[in-house]
Amino acid sequence: MGTDRRLLMIPGPIEFEPDVLNAMSRKTDSHVSPDFIALFGSCLRRLRDVFRAPDGQPFVVAGSGTTAMEMAAANVVEPGDAVLVVSTGYFGERNARLLARHGAEVEVVEAPPGDVPPLDTVEAALKRRAFKAMFVTHVDTSTGVRADAEALAKLARAHGVLSVFDGVCATAGEVFEQTAWDADIYLTASQKALGVPPGLAIVMARPRALEAWRQRTHPVRSYAVDWEEWLPIMEAYEEGRPSYFATPPVNLIYALDVSLRYILEEGMEAVWARHARVARAFQAAWRALGLRMLPVRPEIAAHTLSAVYYPEGVDASVLARIAEEGVIVAGGLHPQLKAQYFRVGHMGRVRPADVLATVGAIERAFRAVGADVPLGAGVQAAQIALAEELQ
Ligand SMILES: *Cc1c(COP(=O)(O)O)cnc(C)c1O
Repeated sequence: MGTDRRLLMIPGPIEFEPDVLNAMSRKTDSHVSPDFIALFGSCLRRLRDVFRAPDGQPFVVAGSGTTAMEMAAANVVEPGDAVLVVSTGYFGERNARLLARHGAEVEVVEAPPGDVPPLDTVEAALKRRAFKAMFVTHVDTSTGVRADAEALAKLARAHGVLSVFDGVCATAGEVFEQTAWDADIYLTASQKALGVPPGLAIVMARPRALEAWRQRTHPVRSYAVDWEEWLPIMEAYEEGRPSYFATPPVNLIYALDVSLRYILEEGMEAVWARHARVARAFQAAWRALGLRMLPVRPEIAAHTLSAVYYPEGVDASVLARIAEEGVIVAGGLHPQLKAQYFRVGHMGRVRPADVLATVGAIERAFRAVGADVPLGAGVQAAQIALAEELQ
């Protein structure tokens, strides 16, 4: 097979740091060895710093982002509970389906693709009915739209409603102050901005969410993600005691340890600012190439990915050509629009050189399939944006 040097610029899995990947090739320790217990415990503590949730209870289990979504829904929601879903695309719809499976009476507020439902609309819904919880997708990976998590968390709080944020395409890439904003649950997966290969589902639950779970009258409908089983395990790891419910993915925890070190040594403010800087460079490139983004306003465009309409005469067949040019990007995902746009992930430790390589490959591929794009204009705009940031 050889070494594939193509850049993986999709909205997860992302390019992982060599040190993170190397950590996974360590000999697998027992999940109850003193060394592993100490390492896992330290990861759990440091996740509070990443989530800005000093009063949060972290859960780290084998699974993907969907497992984390399921853990939140299964533990918080009981049959018959009214739940509001603020949907900005494909993953909002997933939230709604998943919640319905757990017996929730789901109401969805949504916006046309590329927009977010106005806060007034969300507030009107919250006033209409006594919801137990509100589920929001922080960044919907299908549209590249970022919801105003701070305002929504505060709105939910003002109405006495639990707030749950799907941060799978946002956590460690977009500003999120879980405790300061009073958001009850924030969840993610390893393979996106956290920079660890796929396989970890991560949920941070604050006291109000845990209290809602303790007050349940029905058992949690999922055995594998039940906090009843997992809370003692997470507590034991932090307290340095051996425990077992279901085997943790030991080697992925080694990788998480390394990635958390990178993130926290840089510092959350710096990590967030770097994602914003990289996003600005990509956005400058799209503008210079005359390409339109899905997010209808710049202020709701995510810093973790770009969702961009193809130019006239180009369709998804160009993705293979971009790959031939050395960079892998993703196609559309939103059911209504998926044939009309492509997505570029820019999460994790994206370098300036990666930005230029990606924009350059896209320009060449568009040209090769006959699109009328000004060759070099995107690279130049990205270059200027990146250089300005250095001053
Ligand atoms: C990727 C993603 C998910 C699903 O994560 P999986 O790891 O694929 O299960 C859920 N929500 C959002 C916002 C995502 O970007």
